[in-house]
Amino acid sequence: MKIVRTVKELSKVVENYKKLKKQIGFVPTMGSIHDGHIKLVKDSIIENDLTVCSIFVNPIQFNNLEDLENYPREEKTDFIKLRKVFCDVVFAPDEAEIYPEDFKKIKFRFSNALSILEGEKRPGHFNGVLNVVKLLFEFIKPDRAYFGEKDYQQLWIISKFKIRFNIPTEIKPVVTVRSKNGLALSSRNKRMNSKQIIIAQAVYKALTDLRKKVKFYFNQKNKNKIEKKLLKKIKLESVGNAISSNSLKIEYFEIVDVENFNIVDTLFLEKKYRVLIAVYVGKIRLIDNISI
Ligand code: AMP
Repeated sequence: MKIVRTVKELSKVVENYKKLKKQIGFVPTMGSIHDGHIKLVKDSIIENDLTVCSIFVNPIQFNNLEDLENYPREEKTDFIKLRKVFCDVVFAPDEAEIYPEDFKKIKFRFSNALSILEGEKRPGHFNGVLNVVKLLFEFIKPDRAYFGEKDYQQLWIISKFKIRFNIPTEIKPVVTVRSKNGLALSSRNKRMNSKQIIIAQAVYKALTDLRKKVKFYFNQKNKNKIEKKLLKKIKLESVGNAISSNSLKIEYFEIVDVENFNIVDTLFLEKKYRVLIAVYVGKIRLIDNISI
């Protein structure tokens, strides 16, 4: 596995492959590699001749300095995990390599999805993501790029970004990898203690338990009732495990139409929707989603 630190070096590797008409798969990450990231890498390895995984904690997508500072950085173990699954290239640049002094941030405005839910709670987040993805796509020119459904809104935005800016890269969604108890794997899970993990697991269980109810009974009138039921279910599940879930707060619980990412309060059987949730377990903020 080749570890590349500079754009110049990366371009050389990419050009050599492009000359040979080889297919390049790209997996952007912020490191602290877990089995969710590994699934993206494995999919890329199967479908491409060369897989490039980037590890870059992108400062401009954080709206909270404390979150940026606390973000886990484990480069050495990341390299070991990626080498084990035969990733070909890891691009692990420092900040100045991605954002030289003359870098000018682009302000993207192509969709309303940029400013609701995660976009609203984390102002500037998606703009930061799009800026770094645009640069990385320019450096790597991937045939395919892999994004997790775990960050469903991000995946949706990147798919629209591709269409809006005529980017030739195919965007490949990858289903969320979960622990046995349903918790979506995330680099942030490491910051939870064992009690917080049990509460976080209860969120997914409650969501899936309520899936049918949401599908058939969700409407403007009973939206709050369903959210309350969800919270009650999470609390009951936690109490069942002898844990107080007082530290749990739902930040948002919304359903979007997957075609246009509009938040809806009426469902039509023939349409596809996604339930999106953000919760705080103590100080840790988690997001998850399921299809209905
Ligand atoms: P991150 O390092 O958190 O920015 O994530 C890098 C990529 O991995 C993104 O496309 C995420 O959606 C994806 N990802 C993160 N966690 C998971 C998971 N549990 N299952 C599948 N993909 C994931």
